[in-house]
Amino acid sequence: AQAHVDAIAKARALNAYVLETPEKALAMAKASDEKLAKGEGRALEGIPLGIKDLFCTEGVVSTAGSKILGNFNPPYESTVTRNLWNDGAVMLGKLNMDEFAMGSSNETSAFGPVVSPWRNDGTHLVPGGSSGGSAAAVAAHLCLGATATDTGGSIRQPAAFTGTVGIKPTYGRVSRWGTVAFASSLDQAGPITRTVRDAAIMLRSMSGPDAKDTTCADLPVPDFEAAVSRGVKGLKIGIPKEYRVDGMSPEIEKLWHQGTEWLRAAGAEIVEVSLPHTKYALPAYYIVAPAEASSNLARYDGVRYGLRENGKDIVDLYEKTRAAGFGREVKRRIMIGTYVLSAGYYDAYYVRAQKIRTLIKRDFEEVYAKGVHAILTPATPSAAFGIGEKGSGDPVEMYLNDIFTVTVNMAGLPGIAVPAGLDQQGLPLGLQLIGRAFDEETLFAAGQVIE
Ligand code: GLN
Repeated sequence: AQAHVDAIAKARALNAYVLETPEKALAMAKASDEKLAKGEGRALEGIPLGIKDLFCTEGVVSTAGSKILGNFNPPYESTVTRNLWNDGAVMLGKLNMDEFAMGSSNETSAFGPVVSPWRNDGTHLVPGGSSGGSAAAVAAHLCLGATATDTGGSIRQPAAFTGTVGIKPTYGRVSRWGTVAFASSLDQAGPITRTVRDAAIMLRSMSGPDAKDTTCADLPVPDFEAAVSRGVKGLKIGIPKEYRVDGMSPEIEKLWHQGTEWLRAAGAEIVEVSLPHTKYALPAYYIVAPAEASSNLARYDGVRYGLRENGKDIVDLYEKTRAAGFGREVKRRIMIGTYVLSAGYYDAYYVRAQKIRTLIKRDFEEVYAKGVHAILTPATPSAAFGIGEKGSGDPVEMYLNDIFTVTVNMAGLPGIAVPAGLDQQGLPLGLQLIGRAFDEETLFAAGQVIE
């Protein structure tokens, strides 16, 4: 813990942590030492972790990357962090992120962008987003693992950009209680770590039934770590032809092929599969996610908690608070969301997007019904880009980053991003494995073969 506290203090230029909690870390580590001395060590005893600032931590300011929660000190602990502390983990601090987890580069944070530790000839690269602080901190050895969340790719894309491992479990595997909501039907928490095995160990601690979240599944949590060394002999791995999108870099294409060869060599059978509705996933996601976000963000009214800008009456107070508290991307999402939910447009946009969501889910079900155990795709269409390079004039350019990840959230399935190689510039590239519902074990087994 002390070594991590020191490393964090030396790496402030990365802007990975928005809040360091060294006293807490050392006190928790001391308690862990005592447990270990008595032979009572738990699964994560003394393991120093960073926490994405979307998770409410009792008595420790939790901002969701937003000015509107800049002074929010939660009176309760999220289930995920509570589970981690109950297993003996140590908290190093809170990690930077895109505001309310909206973004793919960590540039929408009210606390400034995170710099990827993978610097390339002096240029500042993004770590990906929205869990950019989590990915950068893990890659830069500023924690052994980090919590993260994924609504449309925010665990897997930053993991791919930083050469780390990130898993978004099945919707319902991890409780959402105490995690600030972005789009409730898509949000899932998961770990970012340096190895597949670490991800398995950490996810097991984060997961489990929770009466406080009715969408959290009442299912036992398997021993994910045991699955890591299971191998892929006899597994059927699908390669979806629709993921060969226009403009995919030849390097990614090559890596994807390489991944199939690794799995084949380890005993898996590789089959081509079709997910015909893939091309509608991104536009449908950018209707469903903002719709839910606009509803979830209605609670930031300047009255109950967080920032308050006084006004001449209550409406004026709402307007001034929200105008001052939310950043540009969040405001854009609120406008899109309220538009697609409004009378007159609801059927044309929101209802149609929900129908597409059902079709996407069915695509996967049909592939899995044919005996396919998991699907291999690239994690991202490119390696990390420079800070300020993408999306400033055209948000769609940024949204296109999520092309390989959003389908997984739309279908509620588990997906893991595993580092698979470097591009010509020496930057990390990742592959994604998509699994059957509640079968994260196969992802750990196949992910280990690729890693
Ligand atoms: N980049 C996507 C978005 O901005 C996904 C974000 C996420 O998974 N939290 O909505």
